[in-house]
Amino acid sequence: MELFPVPDVPEIREGDDLAALVSERVDLRPDDVVCVASTVVSKAEGRFADLEAFPAGPRARELAARLSDLTGDEKDPRFAQAVLEESVDLVMDEPFLLTETRFGHVGVNAGIDRSNVPDHDLLLLPKRPSESAERIREGLAADRVIVTDTCGRPFRHGQRGVAIGWAGMSASRDWRGESDRDGRELGVTVESVVDELAAAANLVQGEGADGTPVVVVRGFEWGDHGESDAHFRDVDGDFVRQALREWSYDP
Ligand code: GDP
Ligand code: MN
Ligand code: MN
Repeated sequence: MELFPVPDVPEIREGDDLAALVSERVDLRPDDVVCVASTVVSKAEGRFADLEAFPAGPRARELAARLSDLTGDEKDPRFAQAVLEESVDLVMDEPFLLTETRFGHVGVNAGIDRSNVPDHDLLLLPKRPSESAERIREGLAADRVIVTDTCGRPFRHGQRGVAIGWAGMSASRDWRGESDRDGRELGVTVESVVDELAAAANLVQGEGADGTPVVVVRGFEWGDHGESDAHFRDVDGDFVRQALREWSYDP
């Protein structure tokens, strides 16, 4: 398997056809997986926003004031308002805002970015990243598309790429029912292939001024395994998230 960036991608503007931009630059093969940073999907979809569009309500003012006290950094209540408006659930409200977006992804500040955003204050995540992935896929010679974002994770330092949308493939490879080398049946292993490919792609995309938001994965084979499209956990089956309900931050 190899990964390579799509060369010479320009600054993406609202209305740009990402599929056409990629197809003009790379001869894609049907079994390629095209990994696109959510940043450029958002730009193409015009998900730019300015803080003045989010006049802060009482809840946002309260959250921002508390976070300013806790962190010693002045937090803009309009930013807290933007996070609330992009979210359906506030999972943690201190010492940062961890929320669930409308499409089920849990992330800090609803994944709103303030870097790589020219001329605006904010860049919101795509509204429905899997639908974005499907639209891009329709314009490509490749069958599979993943929309990635860089995200922190609990329990470990450092950020890495995750899949927030995908099309033309299942999210996970289901090993349950297969055997290990000693003939024991695997009972729980459902491998999140879209996250693994997103993490690999993110290595090549970079995080700063690299200018390589689209990465092609060539030669990845699914193999003879089951498939599952489960990706974001429901609260009902998420015991860590349930435990957070009982939790409070005590600096
Ligand atoms: P995120 O992980 O989706 O939040 O995106 P990042 O801000 O980390 O950017 C990922 C990669 O895309 C980096 O290499 C950026 O330099 C690059 N990038 C971001 N926006 C653009 C753009 O409009 N055009 C090009 N060519 N590269 C971009
Ligand atoms: Mn991002
Ligand atoms: Mn990134």
